[in-house]
Amino acid sequence: SIVIHWFRQDLRLSDNPALSAACDAGEVIPLYVLNDKEYGARELGGATKNWLHYSLKALNESLNEQLLIMRGDPAVIINSLIQETGAAGVFWNRCYEPWRVEHDAQLKSDLEENGVTAKSFNGSLLWEPWQVGKPDGSPYKVFTPFYRKGCLQAQEPRKPLPVPGQLRIHPLNTEGALSIDELNLLEERPWSAQVSSHWEHGEKAAQNRLYAFFEDGLSDYKDGRNFPALTHTSRLSPHLHFGEISPNQIWRALGSHEETRDIDHFRSELGWREFSYSLLFNNPTLPKSNLNEKFDNFPWLSDDQRLFAWQKGQTGIPIVDAGMRELWQTGYMHNRLRMIVGSFLVKNLLLDWRLGEEWFWDCLVDADLANNSASWQWIAGCGADAAPYFRIFNPILQGEKFDAHGDYTRRFLPELKDLPDKYLFKPWEAPKDILQSACVTLGENYPLPIVDLKKSRDEALRAFEEMK
Ligand code: FAD
Repeated sequence: SIVIHWFRQDLRLSDNPALSAACDAGEVIPLYVLNDKEYGARELGGATKNWLHYSLKALNESLNEQLLIMRGDPAVIINSLIQETGAAGVFWNRCYEPWRVEHDAQLKSDLEENGVTAKSFNGSLLWEPWQVGKPDGSPYKVFTPFYRKGCLQAQEPRKPLPVPGQLRIHPLNTEGALSIDELNLLEERPWSAQVSSHWEHGEKAAQNRLYAFFEDGLSDYKDGRNFPALTHTSRLSPHLHFGEISPNQIWRALGSHEETRDIDHFRSELGWREFSYSLLFNNPTLPKSNLNEKFDNFPWLSDDQRLFAWQKGQTGIPIVDAGMRELWQTGYMHNRLRMIVGSFLVKNLLLDWRLGEEWFWDCLVDADLANNSASWQWIAGCGADAAPYFRIFNPILQGEKFDAHGDYTRRFLPELKDLPDKYLFKPWEAPKDILQSACVTLGENYPLPIVDLKKSRDEALRAFEEMK
């Protein structure tokens, strides 16, 4: 018989449980549907569209250029394909964005009503959100018990599956089929090519990235992951987001190494990803509403100039600007920097975390609804198990501690490259002659700070006290 495998955030052939089941069931129609309204009112961000273009190319190549690409409402497209081909089944891996949960449940029941087999699988999480709960069945709200008691005590994640041995593709000449280029995912902006030049896309690249990380990053991960100039983070996040690699594959590959504190810590970061998905699944309004409702009364400022300076890496606070420019230039930002720039936006600029979340959504190649919204709520202090609001990162100390020799900061702020380390994170304190010999003119080739760090911190704390 003929069956449809509906590719979504599982753009790979190996360890793809829905695809493997489809192959066992018959000839497969490999389908990808771009649904522009997939993210509710919000479109895919620019950087993820960019990534998707290349990821689909890689997937199509591994399917001998036989990926069927369409655009529109997946339910409508799947139903018309069934009409056209007489397909007897539809297989997919589950997604957890609230509107997709709803869409998929409806699709499944409609298909079954019409006598078509509809099967969904877990292709992107180590544990399903409903598999991990407190003994009374309620979801965990704190990470450590979620991970140590919930996840690690639950069933061991399944063994990854090989690439299906028998992938027979059903040939098709469907009306409405598009080429990848016709999806127009590549934005015609100068940043597009620049961002892509920093990455390799697709399943093979994801596997290569994993093994390169095992070679040069995993040892000393626990400490090294805090230093943005080092290579101790895996940079697997966009590959994971698009499902070019599964967390099972990573989890199991770690098992071939001797268990160390670095491996334990790396596993726990994958655990944070699971935690974000569990939060989103159990709180569908996570991307929009404060988990802690007290924050609904927080007096956020409305100040486009501040926001714009932050977005463009022109705040006059070097470590913040370096992070924001890394994001703009590469589509990625090191986790330490995400925390620093997030804290600065919310607690020094007093701007709503949702503005930061939206900018990240548009600029990150790994923009992920669960991880992004859970992390922004965490940094703003209104999320689950969040950093308390009163803990405010000091961007000068953060720079001095985590980029002591300034390698990272100088890479993204070439205008400050000749400033000595002592003043790199606070150029406004540098004596005139030092600024002059480093060719820095504050207010001209590098901005003066847009806020006073101490004063703005105090204001934030006052606002927080009032809110309480
Ligand atoms: P590694 O350190 O190598 O970690 C391996 C994997 O574990 C990551 O690829 C990721 O899947 C997962 N992971 C690591 N840290 C976290 C975390 N804190 N929360 C959830 N999962 C984690 N991550 C995204 O994937 N998409 C986002 O949109 C996103 N937005 C963020 C926004 C803010 C404000 C903050 C503070 C963090 C955000 N993160 C997001 C989490 C984290 O910064 C990235 O996952 C990480 O930097 C990706 O780099 P890596 O793959 O080298 O990480």
